[in-house]
Amino acid sequence: MAVDTANGALRNPFELPDSDGYEWVKGNLHSHTTNSDGRVDPQTRVDGYVGAGYDYLCLSDHRKITRVDTVEAPDGFVLVQGVELHPDNPFGGQRHHFVCLGMEEDMDADVMPPQLVIDRVRSQGGQVWLAHPHWSSVNIARDTMPLDGFSGIEVFNTVCRCMGRGESSVHWDDWMEQEQKLYPMLCNDDLHGDPENPKKGRYDWYQGWTMARVKERTSEAVLEALSSGATYGSTGPTIEHISLSKSGDEVEATVKCSEAQRIFAVSDKTGAEYQEKGEIFTEATFPVRPGAQWVRFEVVGPNGAKAWSNPFDLTEL
Ligand SMILES: [Zn+2]
Ligand SMILES: [Zn+2]
Repeated sequence: MAVDTANGALRNPFELPDSDGYEWVKGNLHSHTTNSDGRVDPQTRVDGYVGAGYDYLCLSDHRKITRVDTVEAPDGFVLVQGVELHPDNPFGGQRHHFVCLGMEEDMDADVMPPQLVIDRVRSQGGQVWLAHPHWSSVNIARDTMPLDGFSGIEVFNTVCRCMGRGESSVHWDDWMEQEQKLYPMLCNDDLHGDPENPKKGRYDWYQGWTMARVKERTSEAVLEALSSGATYGSTGPTIEHISLSKSGDEVEATVKCSEAQRIFAVSDKTGAEYQEKGEIFTEATFPVRPGAQWVRFEVVGPNGAKAWSNPFDLTEL
């Protein structure tokens, strides 16, 4: 029986071929401008990501949508309309941080219960992503499991790393294990700063991105790739290919990537590590933990930068 998933069946992006018109696009779904607490105006923010070689961006200002028709971007650069909403947290933790994508209508989320916010976002065709749970001191069982309708989780956040809590992979695994439900990830900057005028000690730009496998350079195609897991996240390494094969109860994974010092296969039954005797490698085949229902992969580059795959449902192999 298939493991439950947040948004319907997950797709393996590495099996969506170039010959069908698919390409990788690089993007960031979480950034702020002078419309909230960011240090540059919306157009400067867009220009920054265009200049840094990105293909798509969301200006996810706090509480109020920054409309994509108020900025300009070159042909082929995709603007995803969104907002970061902060409903109250009635379960005891801190106020929520939800990155909401594909948004049309503003709402006064601060005075709304979190489930109502999720429902209203979804009713307008939007997606709700749990932002930086490590930084927010989110307790998955207390703050998140009472809620239903998330698209997934932000596994890495650059500005939160500046404050020592950038990675939320433990929350991700905890959530998937407790619910036995697979959530895809985002890897984001949450950029507030000004790359042209750095604030001392805070370098929060262009260090965490989500690669999406799309056929068309449209907001709809990017959103569909995000929710169906046709993505991977990175702070450096490239994942070229992941394939899985099963014989009996044994599952074997083959990962091809840019230079790596190690690869982790993280599953609901602990995990497995692959290393090449202390040497750098770019391809590895190794067994996944027996009896696991799902597995996700982390590639660690020579300098410690990482890439995260989405989870794979092993029960469907
Ligand atoms: Zn936030
Ligand atoms: Zn933010």
